[in-house]
This record gives sequence, C-alpha cells and structure tokens, in this order.
Amino acid sequence: MSPVLPGRQTYAEIDRNAITHNVQYFRNLLAPETQLMAVVKADAYGHGAVHVAKVALESGATWLGVAIAEEGVELRNNGITAPILIFGTSTREQIGMAGEFDLDLVVFDREHVSHVVEVARALGRPLTVHLKVDTGMGRVGLQWHDLNGDWLSLLTQPEIHWRGLMSHFAEADNPEGEWTRVQMTRFLDVIEWIRIHHGTLPPLLHIANTAATLRYPGTHFTMVRIGLGIYGLRKTPEPDGLRPVLTLRSRVVFVKRVPKGYYVGYGRTFQTPRESWLATVPIGYADGYRRGLSNKVDVIIRGSRYPVVGRISMDQIVVALPIDDEVSVGDVVTLIGRDGSEVVSANELAETLDTISYEIMTGLSKRVPRVDS
Ligand SMILES: *Cc1c(COP(=O)(O)O)cnc(C)c1O
Repeated sequence: MSPVLPGRQTYAEIDRNAITHNVQYFRNLLAPETQLMAVVKADAYGHGAVHVAKVALESGATWLGVAIAEEGVELRNNGITAPILIFGTSTREQIGMAGEFDLDLVVFDREHVSHVVEVARALGRPLTVHLKVDTGMGRVGLQWHDLNGDWLSLLTQPEIHWRGLMSHFAEADNPEGEWTRVQMTRFLDVIEWIRIHHGTLPPLLHIANTAATLRYPGTHFTMVRIGLGIYGLRKTPEPDGLRPVLTLRSRVVFVKRVPKGYYVGYGRTFQTPRESWLATVPIGYADGYRRGLSNKVDVIIRGSRYPVVGRISMDQIVVALPIDDEVSVGDVVTLIGRDGSEVVSANELAETLDTISYEIMTGLSKRVPRVDS
C-alpha cells in the first residue's frame, strides 16, 4: 500500500472484504482440487499488488500471476511465499530473477528454453516452467500443432522442472462462444498428444481467465487465472455476485456561486446554462482521471450525481450543481464507486472512453494513494 500523504484529499479505497468475497465467489465455482490463481499484474490492475495478493491468498487463492519478473520480485520482497507465475516473455536478466526469487516462467520458444537452462546451470538447480501454447490468441505461444518430440526432450532436461501447460482465450467473454470452442478443442488435442507421447501430464493445466471461469466450467482444468473478477469487475455492465473493490474519492476544495453564462476551464468548452455552484475537486488526468471524460461524466456528492464540466485539467476538475442544492468545502466526491444509492462504475467511465475497465483501473496513477478499507 502506498502511504496516505497527510492532507491528500484524493485517494482510492481498497475494500479488503470485497476482495475476500470475490475470491470466495470464484472458489465456490471450482472443484475443491482446482487451484485459483489471483492475477495481480500491473500492480493488481491498479489496486496495489502486495496488499491484494496478501488478502487474496488469505481468502482462498493459492497462486499469483504477474506479467513481468520485477512484479514477482516485488511480491517476494514483501514476504509473499506463494507460487508465482510470470506470464510474459523474460530476458536473460529476468530469467535470472526468476531463478533467484523462485518464480515460475512461461516458455514457448527454443532460444528462451536454452536461456532458462543456462541460468539453471549457473544456479545449480532446475527452474520451473509452464509451456504456453497458442490455440488462437495469436500472441505469444508455441502454435498448438507444433508440439513435437524435440519439445518433449527440451522440457524433460534435468535443468527444467516442467510444472504446467497453458493457453489463453481471445474472447471468452463473447456469448457466441464459437472461438472459445475452437481454442478448447486445440488445447484438448495438445493435452491428448502429451498424454500419448510423454505418458504423463504436467500437474497444472490452465487456460481460463475470469470470463471463461464464469461461463464455461469445462475450461477450469487444474487451475484458473482470475484477474478482473478479483477486483469485482466484469466486461458486462451488471456484475452479478461480485463486489467492486476500488472506490475513487476526493473532496471539494473550493465552491463559488456563478451567474448564467460563466465559462469553465481550458478552451472554454462549458458555459453555465443558468446560475450555478461550481465546485473544484483536486483530481485530474495526472491521477488517471482521463481528459477524454471532460463534459461527459458525473461524480457523486452527498448521494447525488452531478456533471463534470469544462475540460479536465492535469490536477483539477470542476463540478456544476444547481443553486438549490447544498455543497461545501470538504464534501466527499465519489468518482468511481458508490455513495448512497448512486453508483458510477468503472465500466461506465470505460464505455464513455470507448475502452474497458482494465484500462481505467491500470491508468490510475501512483499519485493516488491506495488506502486499505
Ligand atoms: C491478464 C491475464 C489473465 C487474467 O485475465 P482476466 O480477464 O482479468 O481474468 C489470465 N491469464 C493471462 C495469461 C493474462 O495475461
């Protein structure tokens, strides 16, 4: 957790009970022997990786997933001993970190495997790897039809501990499910090929992300990798059963009463249509409250929604309120989350910007303290 700066009015509350609730929600969907990996890459989707990882592990997650070695090292340096898998490609230096800090690696090309072997020899012990096959995502991964006897020899060298076989869905959130079925068929073919030619399977078989885990129990295998769902987010607007973890708040720092026709902000993109209160709030695009939201979103003050007016600046926004409503310096402003019966969801902001909630959350900058609540 970042320390709360004394006096800083803008902060993100991280609801630990919501993390626990969400992990248990997924745990209940899984067979008891299926492992639950909490994906905490990108600083836990902007929520604070060390904190989220600890709460998720206390709540039933057994694995952690990160994108790069440095993220795994941060978790280890904060006392986390649970198994950690690095999803992305790793340079020789990063493979060295994986060896030193006991992080599992993903492999899918021969040169990469030879680097892993070199590092393992230098360390004097095997490194643990998961073979990644591309079944239809078209990103990293050995193509599903390219697995062969040479690969089995590579993976069964003494320097390698072959713990997993994995793939990744391109559109598990698509209700049609057609491509997901294609990818599943290919993944099952790879599994069958390994069973026949190797005689045994690596202990961990994993392909499902949040959407697949929710939609298709047949994709769970021996582990699921849950990112978005841990944070209580889904791509569809109504997250049933999951609780959003992050609430972005600030406070009103200045209020003034202005007449009809008053301009607000850079470029004068807003003019008051009637006499109004203008409340200034110390958050801006440098905090990750994106400029593209200017004149398009609401915030919640005293349980009611009010529009953000004028351009969003680097460090400040302005909210307009009718003069019959009450507002004063110090009032809490909710920019993402719930206040009373009103909610502004991350999905709502994402749709306004034609993006996904992942980008909104990972875009919250380090200037915003994350506060345990
Ligand atoms: C990010 C990621 C996930 C988690 O995806 P969600 O949709 O957030 O659940 C799972 N697996 C891999 C390989 C990833 O990169």
